[in-house]
Amino acid sequence: MKPNETLLKSLLNGNGHKNNGHHHDLADEMGDEHILTDLNTPLRADAFELDDELKIELIGKHFEQIMHILGLDLTDDSLKGTPHRVAKMYIKEIFSGLNPQNKPAMTLFDNHYNYEQMLVEKNITFYSTCEHHFVPIFGKAHIAYFSSGKVIGLSKLNRIVQYFSKRPQVQERLTNQIGEELKNALQTEDVAVIMDAYHLCVSSRGVQDTNSSTVTAFFSGKFEKESTKAELLKYVEMKTGI
Ligand SMILES: [Zn+2]
Repeated sequence: MKPNETLLKSLLNGNGHKNNGHHHDLADEMGDEHILTDLNTPLRADAFELDDELKIELIGKHFEQIMHILGLDLTDDSLKGTPHRVAKMYIKEIFSGLNPQNKPAMTLFDNHYNYEQMLVEKNITFYSTCEHHFVPIFGKAHIAYFSSGKVIGLSKLNRIVQYFSKRPQVQERLTNQIGEELKNALQTEDVAVIMDAYHLCVSSRGVQDTNSSTVTAFFSGKFEKESTKAELLKYVEMKTGI
């Protein structure tokens, strides 16, 4: 695919978006306080006009500039591979969940064994990235649902969590995106997601609080009922018997 010339030019010149001073102050404060603007990841319509290889090349060039501006010697053997390495990691790993092509395929199976209780998959480890500081958010996700007559493989639950984690994120949005996707995939309203995470932008900089973690939750359908919520929380707190 031939990339759009104007898009390519704007990306090369880095002038895709300009703030005036006032807007910048407000945006700065919103980011530091982790204020969320939209439940959808704010992507442009032309987000995937450039292919992955070209994106890696462009990000590599810009990252080299950042390192250069910091005063680092890019001819040093230890540093010279870093721009390309970071660019490749962005596209192929930690931000690969931006591209809908990387969304895990969902195969539904019939619930032959008529299991009608809640199913909980807990302690799913996830790594994401704070979209306000571009440093890691990591923690555990707990997922639960009641089957609508259909089930999906347990590993798919992990894959949905990983897919949405691999984006620049805000924890509330990440939690909601996983919840909404599970409702779609499982064809039921009866879904819950709880996420408990550490934010390196809170622990390693800013207020430097190393103890606090952030909990977000998505409760839908039957999980809006207090007794169902309480049952789920009991399972999440239960020590794994192995
Ligand atoms: Zn942050």
